[in-house]
Amino acid sequence: MSVELHYQTLVELATLLDTGRLSSVELTAAIIARTKAVDARVRAFNSFDEADALAQAAASDARRAAGQGRGPLEGIPVGFKDVISVAGQPLTASSKMLANFVSPYDATVTTRLKNAGAVCWGRLNLDEFAMGSSTENSAFQPTRNPWDLTRVPGGSSGGSAAALAAGEAVVTLGSDTGGSIRQPAALCGVVGLKPTYGLVSRYGLIAFASSLDQIGPFARTVEDAAILLGALAGHDERDSTSVKVELPDYRAGLGRRQAPWRLGIPKEYFGAGLDPEVAAAVEKAIAYYRGMGCEIKEVSLPHTEYGVGVYYIIATAECSSNLARYDGIRYGHRAQDAHDAVDIYFKSRAEGFGAEVKRRIILGTYVLSSGYYDAYYLRAQKVRTLIRQDFLNAYQEVDALLTPTSPTPAFKAGEKADPLAMYLCDVYTIGVNLAGLPALSVPCGFSSGGLPIGLQLIGQPFREAQLLAIAHAYEQAHDWHQKHPSL
Ligand code: GLN
Repeated sequence: MSVELHYQTLVELATLLDTGRLSSVELTAAIIARTKAVDARVRAFNSFDEADALAQAAASDARRAAGQGRGPLEGIPVGFKDVISVAGQPLTASSKMLANFVSPYDATVTTRLKNAGAVCWGRLNLDEFAMGSSTENSAFQPTRNPWDLTRVPGGSSGGSAAALAAGEAVVTLGSDTGGSIRQPAALCGVVGLKPTYGLVSRYGLIAFASSLDQIGPFARTVEDAAILLGALAGHDERDSTSVKVELPDYRAGLGRRQAPWRLGIPKEYFGAGLDPEVAAAVEKAIAYYRGMGCEIKEVSLPHTEYGVGVYYIIATAECSSNLARYDGIRYGHRAQDAHDAVDIYFKSRAEGFGAEVKRRIILGTYVLSSGYYDAYYLRAQKVRTLIRQDFLNAYQEVDALLTPTSPTPAFKAGEKADPLAMYLCDVYTIGVNLAGLPALSVPCGFSSGGLPIGLQLIGQPFREAQLLAIAHAYEQAHDWHQKHPSL
């Protein structure tokens, strides 16, 4: 075997499993061994249960031996961002508030993955409650970038991206509220997809900003992401925002000839603050599409500059409401020395939440309070509509948009001490969440320092199949995804 087992794709491993050349127990043991060898340095995992993973793998092998169970993920270890419930496993949101919490039930995506045969493997680190862009806001540990251990993996799903880049899982799940799947995917050199709002159920996902949150796949290739998306997507009556739409076979769609596409280049995404090496890599990718016969057109998304401001009003408003449930009464951290109910609330929340989470709750409470509601929250909602309209206007002329995913490659741990500097990591990803659109990041090169660079493709609502096909065409002609960090 040329490529080590832990760096094989889901497609390759599924073939080995289907033809009996590999068992799920062997595969899972290899992933466990790899994790034990590298995770002291990468620190992608908050926790994992070796015996439980091997027992799930043995059950998969038994299903196979009995002629049952040939789901698309049969026997494949999947890592979970530590905000997605798996019954009986820890669910911490990388917060002291939930340090000892165990999920009482499965998220809908978890049930779906189990039905597809997956081995639910390990809890992946994140910025506390998914608030951040570097995974340094975790209350437990910072995750490091496998390509350069002095740098961040991005965030908030930094553990999910780093684990894949380091060979500690075959595919992983993340959540994306303002870029938390795509930005770490770009910084770690893997594929990450944020689905259209409503395509994937949020039931069993710890809520951050409910009108923006979506669960999505991380994978080594676009095809692997397509397979995982197929397992995740679908209507769920337990999530009232989940939408009933016809689901295509995302993987089969990749092979169908669909090019040339009409691709838009939003001029507002190539201005000040964009690292020249990132710009050059993205320009090259654009040139590739032009070379394959796609029509490349400059478009304008005129309200782009308001995206970050609008996001930090809406996301904080929603989080201040969602996080009110952590009051020390029914679950989560409870202060030891509190003497009455109000004291329990104050002290438990003061002790349980980290600085960034508190900052957001305070901001969100402020923009929702009477007197400020109209000036901030209501106005932000109006501008959100304008931002969505910008995208829909562009889609009159083009099928999808090409942009950088992140303005820079991975930055040094500790480099962005100012919250505002951190918020600006999301300038190219946030508009997509505000507009509810699907988008993915696919590797498109390396900086001179050897750090991965990501190309973002933004699609039309519920046109994930087309988005994946556009990314797949690029990936097939490049070998960025076959490169791995030396750990
Ligand atoms: N970095 C953004 C934030 O801090 C986005 C996070 C996310 O998508 N969960 O809010």
